[in-house]
Amino acid sequence: MGTKALNSDSFSGAGGRAGGYQIDLLIQGYPGKSVCHGSLGWSTIALLRGHGRVALIDVGAFGIRSTLIHKLAELGLTPEAVTDVILTHSHYDHAVNWTLFSHADIHMGSDEMDWSLQAPWGRTPVPELYMQTLAAWPSFKRLTAGDTVLPGLVAHAAPGHTPGHLIFVLVGTERDVIFTGDAAKNRAELVGMVADMSLSKEESVASFERIWALWRQRANNVLVPGHDLPMVLDGAGEPEYLGERAGGIRAWFGDTLEQTHTFSLVA
Ligand SMILES: [Zn+2]
Repeated sequence: MGTKALNSDSFSGAGGRAGGYQIDLLIQGYPGKSVCHGSLGWSTIALLRGHGRVALIDVGAFGIRSTLIHKLAELGLTPEAVTDVILTHSHYDHAVNWTLFSHADIHMGSDEMDWSLQAPWGRTPVPELYMQTLAAWPSFKRLTAGDTVLPGLVAHAAPGHTPGHLIFVLVGTERDVIFTGDAAKNRAELVGMVADMSLSKEESVASFERIWALWRQRANNVLVPGHDLPMVLDGAGEPEYLGERAGGIRAWFGDTLEQTHTFSLVA
């Protein structure tokens, strides 16, 4: 896995430019689960600035709240500066923090919302009450596949992981940037063409095929998965990671808070 040379019209692991937007990958998605404590839910959060908009594609889980606010502040932004929140799907680790941006337009698939409202309480990764409130929220915008959400950013259907999952393709002059959410969570799913945690493995594979077709359409296209580093296709058409993975856990196993053990989660 290499790091692409960076220049002003390039795209790195931290983001890049496309379609008149500055794109910052505020939070790097992580392709893993904990061994004994369920899903990590460490999902990608992307910031798009351009065309008079400040937009987030997915907004992460509860645990990322303070980090997300800090990442925005590093760019001179407050949560109030965000004009649009665009949700790939309703799962808690992508959607629950819409409440931090309740002043903004909140966009999500109409079918995804209808499905989310029927989710049995307590049994799925859908944050039921957050979705109930969002469905009735004045600035909630229901999306349909084919909609242009922001200038140059188009929603595409990608069901399987959830029935109403949307992916978003930013059409640029030199490259498209494809935000796949959990329709393609990581490199292993895309290469192996097998979905983990999918409500319909068959639909997921059909979505993988559409994602591959969108990715291969132009040589410089970037794919930003829901739980992995961004990737480009190398000369042989193989996915190549952009940037370096970061991840770890700090734990208190000693007698004081000063004594910590740090476990790297980077292979
Ligand atoms: Zn999900």
